[in-house]
Amino acid sequence: MARILDGTAISAAIKEEVAEEVRKLVAQGIKPGLAAVLVGNVAASQIYVRSKVQTCADLGLYSELITPPETVTTEEMLDLVRSLNDRDEIDGILIQLPLPAQVDTKALLDAVDPAKDVDGFHPVNAGRLQAGRPALAPCTPAGVIEILKRSGIPIAGQHAVVVGRSDIVGKPAAMLLLHQNATVTICHSKTRDLGAVTREADILVAAIGRPGFITAEMVKPGATIIDVGINRITDRVEFERYFAGNAKREAAFAKRGSTIVGDVHPQAFELAGAYTPVPGGVGPLTIAMLMANTVRAAKMRRGL
Ligand code: NDP
Repeated sequence: MARILDGTAISAAIKEEVAEEVRKLVAQGIKPGLAAVLVGNVAASQIYVRSKVQTCADLGLYSELITPPETVTTEEMLDLVRSLNDRDEIDGILIQLPLPAQVDTKALLDAVDPAKDVDGFHPVNAGRLQAGRPALAPCTPAGVIEILKRSGIPIAGQHAVVVGRSDIVGKPAAMLLLHQNATVTICHSKTRDLGAVTREADILVAAIGRPGFITAEMVKPGATIIDVGINRITDRVEFERYFAGNAKREAAFAKRGSTIVGDVHPQAFELAGAYTPVPGGVGPLTIAMLMANTVRAAKMRRGL
C-alpha cells in the first residue's frame, strides 16, 4: 500500500513555524508585510489571492490587497510595482497571474525588486538559485522539497525525473533537487520515449498541466511520485477514466459537477512507494512557502 504524503499536515506545520518566527520579529518591532496584486475577475485567481491574504492574517503578517481594474495598462502596473518597491513596510510583492493580455507580464515581473520577489520569478532570483546562492525560491518547487524532506524521503543519490520545464515549476524544482544531490533528468514535450525515462525515476515529479498524463506503465514500482498538477475536470466520461468506482469522488462530482485531478493517473499511485494526492498534496505547500518567503524576505532585507 503506497504511503500518502499529506501536504495539508506538512503545510500546517510550516505555517506554525512561520507564525512563531513572525511573533519573534514582531517582538523586535518588525511586522513582515505582503502586497498581493490581483487584476480582473478570474475566479480561480480571486480564490487563491483571498486565501493568501487570509493566511497572512492567520499567521500575524501584515497584508494589503490591491485590485487594479481589468483595463489597467502596463505603465500603470509598473508605477504600482515601483511604489511597492519603495515602501518599507512591504517585504513581499505578489502579482497574481495570469494578467490581462494588454499587460506585459515579463516587464512587470522584472520590475519587482528581487529582494521583495516572494514568488521567486525574477531572473535575479532564478540566477541566484542556479548559482547556489541564497535566493527566494519559487514557492511550489520549494514546497516539493519540503514534502520530501519532512516525509523522510531520501533525495541524495536518487534519480529524480522532473516532467515539465516551466520557469515556475519544472526548472526550479529540478534545480532544487540537484542542490539536494539528486541525479536529475528534466523531461518535456520533445522528450523521446518519455515512459522509458520516467520508469527510471526514484522520485518522479509531474508538472505538465495534463490530467492523468502519467500512467501506471510509466512508473517504477516503489517510486515516490510528486504530482504538482491541478486540473479541473467537468466531463463525465473523463471523470470515469480516473475515478470509476471511487464513491467519495463520485459524491463530490455529483454535488459540484467537477473535480480536481493531477497530472498523474490515480492508478499509477497504486504502484508508488509514496505519493502526494491531488488535492491535498503539493497545493497546500504553495501558500505555506509564500508565507515563509515573505518572512525570509523581511529578514534578508534587514540583514537578519
Ligand atoms: P506549463 O504549461 O508552463 O508547463 C508545462 C510543461 O509540461 C512544459 O515544460 C511542457 O513541455 C511539458 N509538457 C507538456 N506536454 C507534455 C508532454 N506531452 N510530454 C512531456 N512534457 C510535456 O505549466 P506549469 O509548469 O505552470 O504547471 C504545471 C502543472 O502544475 C499544471 O497542472 C498547473 O496547474 C500545476 N501547478 C500547480 C501549482 C500548485 O500550487 N500545486 C502551482 C503551479 C502550477 P514544453 O516546455 O516542451 O512545452
